[in-house]
Amino acid sequence: MIKSHTLGFPRIGAARELKFAVEQFWRGELTEAALQQRAAAVRQRNWQQQIDAGLDFVSVGDFSLYDHVADHISLFGCAPARFAFTDSDTPLARYFSMARGAAQQEGAACCHQHGAALEMTKWFDTNYHYLVPEFDDATRFSLHAAALLAEVAEARALGHPVKPVLLGPLTFLWLGKSKAAGLECLALLDQLLPVYVQLLQQLKAAGVDWVQIDEPILGLDLPGDWVLAFERSYHALATAHLSVLLATYFSPLQGQLSLACKLPVAGLHVDAIRAADELTAVLDWLPPHKVLSVGIIDGRNIWRSDLDAALEVLTPMLARRPGLWIAPSCSLLHVPVTLADDGALDAELRSWVAGACEKIAELHLLKRALNDGHASVAAEMATTRAALAARRSSARVSKPAVAARVAALPAAADRRRSVFSVRQAAQRSRFKLPAFPTTTIGSFPQTAAIRAMRAAHKRGELAEDAYHTAMRREIAAAVAEQEALGIDVLVHGEAERNDMVEYFGEQLDGFAFSANGWVQSYGSRCVKPPLLFGDVGRRGPMTVAWSAYAQSLSARPVKGMLTGPITLLQWSFVRDDQPRSRTALQLALAVRDEVADLEAAGIGIIQIDEPALREGLPLRRAAWPAYLEWATAAFRVAASGVDDATQVHTHMCYAQFNDILPQIAAMDADVITIETSRSDMALLRGFGEFAYPNEIGPGVYDIHSPRVPSVDAIARLLRKAAEVIPASQLWVNPDCGLKTRDWPETRAALANMVTAARQLRAESRTSSSTVGERTEH
Ligand code: GLN
Ligand code: ZN
Repeated sequence: MIKSHTLGFPRIGAARELKFAVEQFWRGELTEAALQQRAAAVRQRNWQQQIDAGLDFVSVGDFSLYDHVADHISLFGCAPARFAFTDSDTPLARYFSMARGAAQQEGAACCHQHGAALEMTKWFDTNYHYLVPEFDDATRFSLHAAALLAEVAEARALGHPVKPVLLGPLTFLWLGKSKAAGLECLALLDQLLPVYVQLLQQLKAAGVDWVQIDEPILGLDLPGDWVLAFERSYHALATAHLSVLLATYFSPLQGQLSLACKLPVAGLHVDAIRAADELTAVLDWLPPHKVLSVGIIDGRNIWRSDLDAALEVLTPMLARRPGLWIAPSCSLLHVPVTLADDGALDAELRSWVAGACEKIAELHLLKRALNDGHASVAAEMATTRAALAARRSSARVSKPAVAARVAALPAAADRRRSVFSVRQAAQRSRFKLPAFPTTTIGSFPQTAAIRAMRAAHKRGELAEDAYHTAMRREIAAAVAEQEALGIDVLVHGEAERNDMVEYFGEQLDGFAFSANGWVQSYGSRCVKPPLLFGDVGRRGPMTVAWSAYAQSLSARPVKGMLTGPITLLQWSFVRDDQPRSRTALQLALAVRDEVADLEAAGIGIIQIDEPALREGLPLRRAAWPAYLEWATAAFRVAASGVDDATQVHTHMCYAQFNDILPQIAAMDADVITIETSRSDMALLRGFGEFAYPNEIGPGVYDIHSPRVPSVDAIARLLRKAAEVIPASQLWVNPDCGLKTRDWPETRAALANMVTAARQLRAESRTSSSTVGERTEH
């Protein structure tokens, strides 16, 4: 008999109940007991949904109040010593201190690092962020399984068959960061393994038969010593005599496939969406006595599955694997709880999509088809087929004019008319900017007043023209602020934008927005990615009126501000019926048209933000070049339709850029502004060594902190930058947009930034400088 299960379920609740409960708890409006009660309600509903969908297990341990990696830090008692927890700190207080930072004691003489929150970073190639475990020489592991065991007992008391979900020891160590010189995270393995064994023994004693252990790092290019450590680890875990389902996902196993198949575990889960090509090899390599779990439903996207295609894959496997398990490809954490009755999607769109609840229902259908014969599900299959057929032939999806334009795109469409040096000369004589020109990244504080006006406008309580007038007033105020501060290249401030993707998606054909399609981004923060379901078309100018208005208020250049094609792609749920590269090109053409309209409206400097370029990189290096090729080409298509004297900026932030610098250079933006303060300019060394050819604005202060950076601190960073990048190429700007900040701190920080830039100008005038090409105001 075929079994079905899920690797994990969304934990925020269909109405984001958990988010609201946790935030109320933080504000002191909810007791810990009440928080736990609400959390249990979400958890129990998740389990019931899994049971109702006929899953053979409910997943336990995938639920989390903040983050599952942080849960493992608690589980293994390895909170960093720098938090200096005392006996009076409850487990929950410790947990939220790690997640959000500990309140600084009044007058306590401590360094900045003392109680700072754990660093946060992206979970593989998803938009989920986990808290990074910190390891040092003092790290010790000890088991604190009470919370997990209580959840197991809770599910069992409800009569559910449970399958606890754990991160594997190697993935847990891999995700952590060594804070001690010379300490390799892997060196902690021998200390960690006995704690895992102890945990498995306790789970077994609690009545658990199967435990799922996630080792997604098996889909990465691992160093040899990490690969070698797998056998040793799983031999150790086998001593607990519990059936382990080793779960891999997100990426092909490639050279690690035979290792995964021969580890001493009872079963192996593989991602049949991202690693479909490997299924045959897994069937060959995995010993017949082991359970094979096939991740056949896409856990990373929201489209209704093609169940006929799934059955075509699964049916022939039955002869060799009569005890097959089926599952989503990965945890359903990355999709909304449900889209079935979403109020903002029309009935047709709703019939094309599937949230977590709909996906486990798909699994149920597959299981019944396999166990009881296809005839038993004929009616449901017919509904599915009809929806898929409708989507395939819908005029909302394919717009022949878009396809024709992509097909007819001239080969030179992704190239500027002249090389950078020629453009640079044209732009310098046009704009006559001083050395170390100052600018910002685009957004200014999204004040409560702005948000209230947008909400009122959306509810229909603030008329279109009143809203416009109000936004224009915000823009005028932002321009006046920047002129008073003496910034060289202004921005309009993005007051009219809800979100940098949503704002454009709402104005483009091919996008739809759900009312409730939330997915967790980190902790209590959720995002609602747009659905990019069809060919992309620009209905008309999207930003020109706002930018032109801003430019009309100042003699200084005002930058146009656009979101780039790759970021629009990356932060949406993207159609799966054509290659992503083609969708990217369609987006690029829409942006290109907007760029052309901005240029025609007299906007001489246009920024195309691509903060998500890096996160689109495949997990396997071998797949990088192909992605970077089409992604940078899409950017260039968006950016290249303009005159030499029009200056194109791009902006990137919060990612590791050092390993893709040549490709960033290949985007050929005239200026890149980039977040650097997190690495204290270490990133810049990469740009220097690579000899980045165009102009560059390294972020000189962290916009996440309310702290106002001093003139000295900024000047110090600029001097440091000038050591590795020729001063004539340098711009001065914050790390990222300022929308989360308040005006007083923004004003103060930018004033210091301008002063620091002037100081650097003066210094480079007195020393024999390389800045000479630029004129001074
Ligand atoms: N222009 C955007 C802003 O300033 C860029 C945001 C981002 O990089 N994520 O808000
Ligand atoms: Zn940014």
